[in-house]
This record gives sequence, structure tokens and C-alpha cells, in this order.
Amino acid sequence: MQEAIRLYNQTHKTTLQPKAVLFDMDGVLFDSMPFHAKAWYETMQQYGLDFTEYDAYLNEGRTGESTINAFFPQKYNREATPDEIKEIYRIKSEIFNRISDIHPIKGIYEFLKKVKEAGLMIFLVTGSGQKSLLDTLNKNFPDMFRQDRMVTAFDVKYGKPHPEPYLMALQKGHLLASEAIVIENAPLGVRSAVTAGIFTIGINTGILRDEELYNEGANIVFPSVSELMNHWVY
Ligand code: CA
Repeated sequence: MQEAIRLYNQTHKTTLQPKAVLFDMDGVLFDSMPFHAKAWYETMQQYGLDFTEYDAYLNEGRTGESTINAFFPQKYNREATPDEIKEIYRIKSEIFNRISDIHPIKGIYEFLKKVKEAGLMIFLVTGSGQKSLLDTLNKNFPDMFRQDRMVTAFDVKYGKPHPEPYLMALQKGHLLASEAIVIENAPLGVRSAVTAGIFTIGINTGILRDEELYNEGANIVFPSVSELMNHWVY
């Protein structure tokens, strides 16, 4: 971790002095990704599309429409119509709601408490647009999250992999890029954070190879939250 910080400082001609940790949600706080991946896989199968669960992890964070149209033309030689997209996404959501059994990622509450005890601010930066998000967070992680320290689907125009969501979190916290650390699990989320100039830790809680996160610019990648805890220096 020290070496990754040294390289970050050198590349950005700065000194990392974190005042905040910016958390992604799916795959970082909650183990929802296996259910999203399975639901996408089964839906794409119904349409005869060549799509694996690995593809679902690679495309995590993309909009439903963008994910569908990245695969649809290979079989049908055209993009999906708005009605087809709506129907495909409806099936995916129906399967997801039927199979999902979501829990916090192992060790993440302990890590959140450690971050808070160190005096660092905690931000949530997610593409999710659930209306009861804060209630869900408070139920699972009491006293960790605040409405004014959240960036969700309701706040952004572009979303990840655009840097906008992370830049918005910096703005909300009156933070420089060198005053924050991002925790991400997905390649597109890493790209968003890295493009915003922030030191980005990948925790590879899914099935992807670490390279997928390093290729998008992750400063360091850990296989689990407990490994992150073991190397955490703040
Ligand atoms: Ca994620």
C-alpha cells in the first residue's frame, strides 16, 4: 500500500492526505453482484445472446440499455428497440428480485467503523437509484452514512464510467482529489474514480481477474476487505 501511495504521489505530483473515503455500493458494501450477474445471464440466454456472468461483472455499472446494446447486435444485426430494451430489462429485474438474497460484504462494517474512528469522512458514490437507500444503509451500517454525503443516480447526468459521480462527491465534501480514497470493485467504477484523479483501491469481491481492475488504473487491488484492513495505513 505504501508503494502504491508513493507511485500515486509521484504521478500526480501531490501528497495523498485523505480526509474522506468514497465507497461504491454494489460489490463493496453489499454482495449483490452474483444475483445481478445470474439475472443478466439468464435473461440474455432467453434472447439467445452470447453473454456470460463474467460479462456481467465486466459491465457492472453500465445502464441496462447500454449493456443490452453491447451484445444485441451480434445476433440480430441491429440495436434493440426501446420496447425490446424495456422488456429485456423487465425480465432481468424480475429474475433479480426473485433470486436475490443480499447481505453486507464480509468485514465491511468493521472497515467503515475503522475509517470513521480515524476521523475520515464517509461518502457513498453509487449508480443505484433506490428510493429507500439511506434506510437500507442505516439498517445495515448504523451511524455511518449521511444524506449530504451521498451521490446516487438521482444526482448525476452521466454516471460511471464518467468521472462525474466522484467529482461530485469531492465537491460535496469540499475536497481535493488528493484528499480522498475510493473503494471500488468494478472496472468501470475504477475508471470513473481514476479519471477523477483519486487514489483508487480495488477490492476484487467478484469473479474478475485482478488485471481487469489494474487495466482501468486501480492503484492497488485486494482480494477481500480483510486484506484491505491488513494493509490499511490510516
Ligand atoms: Ca460496484
